[in-house]
Parts: sequence; structure tokens; C-alpha cells
Amino acid sequence: MEIAIGAGVAFLLFLGYLGVNVLPIILLGVFLSVAYLLWDRRGPTAAGRVEAPVRHTVNFDEIGGQEHAKRELMEALDFLRYRDKIRQLGIRPLKGILLTGPPGTGKTLMAKAAATYTDSSFVSASGSEFVEMYVGVGAQRVRDLFRRARQSARKEGKDSAIVFIDEIDVIGGRRGNHSHQEYDQTLNQLLTEMDGMQTTAHPLVLVMAATNRVDILDPALLRPGRFDRIIKVDMPDKEGRLHILRIQTRNKPLAKSVDLEQVARETFGFSGAQLESLANEAAIMALREGQDEVEQRHFRDAVDKVLMGERTGRIPSREELVRVSVHELGHAIVSETVRPGSVSHITISPRGNALGYVRQVPEGDTYLYTKDQLDGQIMVALAGAVAEELVYGNRSTGAQNDFEQASRLARTEVECGLSGLGIVDAENLPQNLLDEEVRRILAEREQKTREILKTYRPILEEMSAVLVQEENLDGEMFRRRLSEVKGNLSNVG
Ligand code: ADP
Ligand code: MG
Ligand code: ZN
Repeated sequence: MEIAIGAGVAFLLFLGYLGVNVLPIILLGVFLSVAYLLWDRRGPTAAGRVEAPVRHTVNFDEIGGQEHAKRELMEALDFLRYRDKIRQLGIRPLKGILLTGPPGTGKTLMAKAAATYTDSSFVSASGSEFVEMYVGVGAQRVRDLFRRARQSARKEGKDSAIVFIDEIDVIGGRRGNHSHQEYDQTLNQLLTEMDGMQTTAHPLVLVMAATNRVDILDPALLRPGRFDRIIKVDMPDKEGRLHILRIQTRNKPLAKSVDLEQVARETFGFSGAQLESLANEAAIMALREGQDEVEQRHFRDAVDKVLMGERTGRIPSREELVRVSVHELGHAIVSETVRPGSVSHITISPRGNALGYVRQVPEGDTYLYTKDQLDGQIMVALAGAVAEELVYGNRSTGAQNDFEQASRLARTEVECGLSGLGIVDAENLPQNLLDEEVRRILAEREQKTREILKTYRPILEEMSAVLVQEENLDGEMFRRRLSEVKGNLSNVG
């Protein structure tokens, strides 16, 4: 395209140079391109831009965890399955179901499974597809979407259709909040479509939508007769993660060594999408090694990759490696001290933005923390820099994230009434008082951390030599070494 334009321009210049009058040609060209742009924006292709109907069908049993959400959704869907009964009883039809929850938790999957479950045809679009520079285009696309839903239901011989709108917050944010009236028109069109839907209509249409920001949705969307069923799709807990891992490894040959339960335990905070990516990455690692089966260590590496990104190509200098290993061992030693058995894996191979890191075994699925736990985590965060200081007498820039994390934890302590300030009103706490208390907590924890690491000082250096050589230490190996070296030292002493 660009080349053609360039050649065209060159040709025109050439004609102009020959003395031919090029003005009419240029005007014609401009007219044609404007016409093309308008046709492209509003014409029949606009509808074609919205995602084509999905052929692959998804079943509810391909969705891991989410038992609660699944049950609630199936119950709601029964109105489509037993519509005659519903009509008999004079029940108001369900028009909209809103799925809310963080990205990658399976909302899109649920909508697709809903279509399979109710034997409906499925069309989908994302909120961002309705946003255009030109007023009226979004509304037109909403109309097209619903028309297409009815069409494809008829074509496929189905009695119902599900229209799925992902990221509905893009068009469904509170009206009047933005300067652009385009959003308002799009939202109004959606409301009009929903209000116009009849129980007696054939095919019957159900709208499903997904968002992570139900708090910013226009209340008009949530009124009865619109999205009056809201289903929360949460991050999976340990059982849910195990279930998802089982589903995502169904088609992969797993070695006997693989303990998915262990993987589920170590992936606290992973979404379904991250677990899918984890299973895939593990298989890729097996492939790279020329193995026929995926092994536990592939999963371990894949967790690192999903969390921290791909290994970076840069090769640190030897000095840097030693410093990084001292830093990471600082984290690891303090982690073992405040919570024995907590180190899962130490590495000094650079990945993403990190030069190295220590992965901790999560404390089960925890949503509540005690002051001791927070204090412990602050010390673990500070330990990298403190270890560097003990060995080198100075610190490096490598601890910036650690300090941010430590400050965040300290702030949590203050705001939750766990600090020396006692119970505080977090919203009205003067900034300087907060800062001062955070500083005090950090200084106190730093002192404690230094005391711990001082007793390990010889071990720190000895083990850093091991880590530099091995690049990775898993938790078990680290603990064994730690107790060995500690044993030797106490024998000498
Ligand atoms: P969302 O719409 O909530 O952002 P998706 O449904 O698009 O999440 O999930 C993306 C991918 O992640 C899915 O295609 C699937 O492979 C995987 N996934 C997410 N949640 C689950 C789950 N609960 N069970 C199985 N796989 C899941
Ligand atoms: Mg999605
Ligand atoms: Zn660190």
C-alpha cells in the first residue's frame, strides 16, 4: 500500500515535470480515498470487524475451579433451557448476565460454555471495538452485533443466541463522565437493544458481558431487565488451581515425577490464563531439552518464566554475579529464619528486570496477615541490601524494588492499626506521621535483619560461591547446605 502511494506520487511529480496538468488527477485521488475511508468505517465491513462466530465449543467441564460461579451461571441459564416453563409462570425473562473479575480468570470461557450449555449460537465483541472517532459508528456496530446474533442463530437452526461483550466498561462507564458523546450513543444503543428484547422473540437473545470494573459501570446498565444477574469470577484458590492445571495438562504427557498438587501450591496468585501459559511453557521447556515427557523441574522453570519473564540474554560480570548471589542469599537466609521451610528456589540467572531472585513457598492461600508475618516479610525484603552491606560495606541499586516492597508492607501495618500508633484512621492520618512511623518500623526491622545475618556472615560467603557456580539452588538443597555449614561452624566453635 505504502509503496503504491509512493510510486503514484513519484509518477504525478514526473507528469507535472513533463508539463501535464495533474490537478484533476490529484483531486480525483483525494475524492476516492475519502470515499474509501468512509465506506471502510461505516459500510458493510464494519460489521465484519466484530469477531466472527466461534466454531470451537467450550464445555463447563473445561473450566477449572469457579465452582460457585459455574453453578450460579448454570442456574441463571436454565431460563433459556426451560423457557416454556418460565413463560408459563410469568417470570420476567433474564436479559443480561454480567461476569465480573480480574483478567484471565475464565470469563470468556464461561460465556462460550454458556452458549454450548443452552445450545445457542455465540457472537462476541469487545468494548474497545465500539470506540471510534466518528459519532454514531459505535451505535451502528451495536445494532450490527445484535442483528448478526439473530442471523447466525437462524442460520444454525438454534432457538437462542448469546451476545458476549467483553470489556463492557469501555462503553458502559458512567454517562457524562467523559467528554465524548460517542460513548453515550453506543451505550444508549445497547440499552435500547436490551429493552427491545422480548421473551416471545425467536430467536431469543441473551446478553453476557465481562468487566473487571463493575464499580465504574453506569447504573442504568445494572437496572432490572438489563444486567440484573452479576456473577463474580474470582482468582482460583489452591483447589481451583489444581483443577485448572489438570485441565490444561490433559493433552500433555507428564512424567511420574510431576506433582501438580505441589505446582498448585506454589502458584498462589496465578490466574487461569497464567496457569494455561505455565503448562504450555513447561511443555516447551521439555521440548527444548528433547524430552518426551514434561517433568517437575520444567514446571518449576516455567513458574519463573511466567512470573519474571524470559531469561535475558545479557551476561553479568563475575563480580556482579557474586554480588547478586550475596544479595539473594540474604533474602533466602532471613526467609528461612522467619519462616523455616519457606524458600522454594534461589536463582541468579537474570530474567525480565531482575538479576536474581528468591521464590518463597506461599503460606497456603492466605488473605489475612498477622503483624509477625508482615514484620517477617519486611525483614526478608530488606535482607538483600543488608547482606550486601555486611559483605561489601556498601549497597547497590539492586534493592530498589525490595525497599518499595518493605515500605508498602510497613504502610500496611500502620494503616491496619498494627503499628506503634495503634488504631488509626488511615484516610485522615497526617502524611508526616505516617512517614515517620514507616521509617521507624523499617529502621527497627533493618536492625533485626542485620543481627540475624551477622550470625550467618561466614555462611553467606561460602554459600555465595556455591550459588555462583550452580546458578540455581532449590529450597531443599539450600536448607541442606545451610544446616551442613551451620553444623561445621558450630563444631569448630
Ligand atoms: P477472561 O475472559 O476472564 O480474561 P479467559 O476466559 O479469556 O479469561 O481466559 C483465557 C485463557 O486462560 C483461556 O482460554 C484458558 O486457556 C485459560 N483459563 C482461564 N481461566 C480458566 C479456568 N478457570 N479453567 C481453565 N482454563 C482457564
Ligand atoms: Mg477474556
Ligand atoms: Zn532483592
